[in-house]
Amino acid sequence: MIFTTDTHTHSLDFSGDASSYMEEMCRGAIEKGLKRICFTEHVDFDPHYDDSIPFDPEKYKRAVETMRDEFGADIEILKGIEVGEPHVYKKEYEKVLTADQYDVVIASVHYIQLPMGIHWTGHRGEDIYTYAVPRIYRRYYEDVLAVSQLGGFDVFGHFDLPKRYLKMEAQEDELIEESLRNIIAGGSVIEINTSPLRKGCEETAPGKKILDLYRSLGGKRLTIGSDAHQACDIIAGFDKAFNDFGAGFEIGYFKQRQFIAFGEGK
Ligand SMILES: [Zn+2]
Ligand SMILES: [Zn+2]
Repeated sequence: MIFTTDTHTHSLDFSGDASSYMEEMCRGAIEKGLKRICFTEHVDFDPHYDDSIPFDPEKYKRAVETMRDEFGADIEILKGIEVGEPHVYKKEYEKVLTADQYDVVIASVHYIQLPMGIHWTGHRGEDIYTYAVPRIYRRYYEDVLAVSQLGGFDVFGHFDLPKRYLKMEAQEDELIEESLRNIIAGGSVIEINTSPLRKGCEETAPGKKILDLYRSLGGKRLTIGSDAHQACDIIAGFDKAFNDFGAGFEIGYFKQRQFIAFGEGK
């Protein structure tokens, strides 16, 4: 299958943990032969987060328009956001959702709330005494459940994210199943996020076990995103992700918050 769309990408203009600017991302996507790229810039509400750039929707709108002026003849540029921890910042999340100017809203859990403070899921817990990897997973999945109950998003981002860093199989079967049921019932989808393949994992996030469960619970639709934070990672790992896990799913992207399935070869 030839992939022509990357549904999850970041740029240094709006996501502080990225290393390529929007312009470089567009050029990179065109060089790779894509028909469209969707920016899904981080929208985080806690000023204490590492690398966080305060989100400015007007600035983002203008930047995307500038990119469309420059590259629109060669590639379609979609404007999405990735909202972190919407269950903690409900009012702010509501405001973002009602702005109604995005092609896609991804909801993600990057930081978990521990009694002693905010904790990034990528840290093993050595920095916070008594906390260890299994408890980080547990807390992560409790938060995933809370986000799934909140709803309102199009895509749940990188389900099973801690695996990308902590390299452990999740044990939270009940929380996972309930979260997936909520996501499906809410009309949202999950994505295959290929970024773990670039961080030494053998599987995407999520991997086979969770994707099989999602399918068995009635989940039919998927997006595939690289989560590229630099131009060279655009559509990285898509072939492997599709060959390993894509069978039996309707794969597509969101535009103006509507799911569009790829036709053959799109
Ligand atoms: Zn993310
Ligand atoms: Zn992302």
